[in-house]
Amino acid sequence: MSNYSVQTKLLHNDYSVDKTSNGVSVPIQHASTFHQEDISEFGQYDYARSGNPTRDALETTIADLEGGTHGFAFASGMAAVSSSLMLLSKGDHLLITEDVYGGTFRFVTQVLSRFGIEHTFVDMTKLDEVKAAFQSNTKAVFIETPSNPLLKVTDIEAVTQLAKQHDCISYMDNTFLTPLLQKPFDLGVDIIIHSATKFLAGHSDVVAGLVVVNDEQLAQQIGFLQNSCGAILGPQDCWLVLRGIKTLHARMRQSVESAEKLANYLEGHSLITKVYYPGLTSNSYYEVQQKQAKNGGAVLSFELANEQAVEQFVERLKLPVFAVSLGAVESILSYPRNMSHGSMPDHDCDQRGITKGLLRLSVGLEDADELIVDFEQALAYTNQPANTI
Ligand SMILES: *Cc1c(COP(=O)(O)O)cnc(C)c1O
Repeated sequence: MSNYSVQTKLLHNDYSVDKTSNGVSVPIQHASTFHQEDISEFGQYDYARSGNPTRDALETTIADLEGGTHGFAFASGMAAVSSSLMLLSKGDHLLITEDVYGGTFRFVTQVLSRFGIEHTFVDMTKLDEVKAAFQSNTKAVFIETPSNPLLKVTDIEAVTQLAKQHDCISYMDNTFLTPLLQKPFDLGVDIIIHSATKFLAGHSDVVAGLVVVNDEQLAQQIGFLQNSCGAILGPQDCWLVLRGIKTLHARMRQSVESAEKLANYLEGHSLITKVYYPGLTSNSYYEVQQKQAKNGGAVLSFELANEQAVEQFVERLKLPVFAVSLGAVESILSYPRNMSHGSMPDHDCDQRGITKGLLRLSVGLEDADELIVDFEQALAYTNQPANTI
């Protein structure tokens, strides 16, 4: 199997046909405990928090996709983030990108800090700032790229090299691009994290998280934490993520193609003041994105003149759902200022460029031209040239 492309391997792998029934789907094993043959010989599974065959299938699948040795499935992306950050101990220091996902920000600042684990937020697109932020007790670096919602791109290899020089392990949240578009292990990352709620599952119908490592010792440590913290993904949800992953290649290809079209369209529109998409040649992160990822992905942000324009635009737009989250079959539009970054103080938002005119779009599987027609009519409705406001 190993010589096939990812596209083919998503469908033809160890789990394509169930070995006990020849069923063309992974069975969902609900048992919480497993019968043992006698007092000294135990089977592969004993208690379902520690291991479950449906979860094994998902964990092996994501490990293969990322090119790692071990995968771990968690109850949510945040369960994956929090459980794996439990590798840190009291007195340790974590270097973390300032543009990190809001839930990760909250966990690091309001939970880890209570356990005496220190942190420093840095703009990881600026290597000098990363270099300067290492302390004698820095034990780990946490990368997320492209960032949310401004799609800033961190040079992964440059940061993991710095981490290695300082004997630090590196974490990377690969949710936005998935292993199909970006392979963090090839760039020196130690621990890959996913919110599988997004592109991997892809259908806005399950909350799940994944961790992948490619080192035996780290695998033992993460496995120990997964079993100790207990935030495992249930078998039904494992199956939903597995089903989603089967179409990952087709979905990403379509969504990225449409995202590129939309980004180009928006860039040329007079009412759009800014487009943030690392797949545009005009984007300041285009080169580094090209170097480390296949393309710009399926998420982009753009800016209208002001809040009023956003209100009018959102009111008129028909196709995308207006919601938090991303990475689904349907396009999802969100308003970071009031949604994902609603708890961030106004001046911090302004300083970071998360303005009252900013919208984020996760491009789904609708016909791209129909999405553009929809945008066209909604933008016409706002009808206020940016330079007159
Ligand atoms: C959604 C998200 C998370 C958190 O995942 P949940 O499944 O919602 O817990 C973490 N990182 C990124 C980049 C996300 O988009």
